[in-house]
Amino acid sequence: MLPLRNCLPYDIVMNDVFAQECPFCQSSHVLLPLKPEDVSSLSGGRRKILLVFPCCHGSVRVIDSDSDYLLADRPVRGK
Ligand SMILES: [Zn+2]
Repeated sequence: MLPLRNCLPYDIVMNDVFAQECPFCQSSHVLLPLKPEDVSSLSGGRRKILLVFPCCHGSVRVIDSDSDYLLADRPVRGK
């Protein structure tokens, strides 16, 4: 089971991946430097990606994904 506080909700629009909210600066609908195939390649922990948010250059290591969330290796959401 994924620890919810480590989960980052995302949306795929066309061929772009957006975070619903940046966990660092709270910008909404942030275009991520990821492609949908990167997200699917993360699924099941087969791959890890250092994700850098373009809005504020905050970074987090993404270690898994499912159809709604990217899973970070540390908490990214409020208490
Ligand atoms: Zn940000």
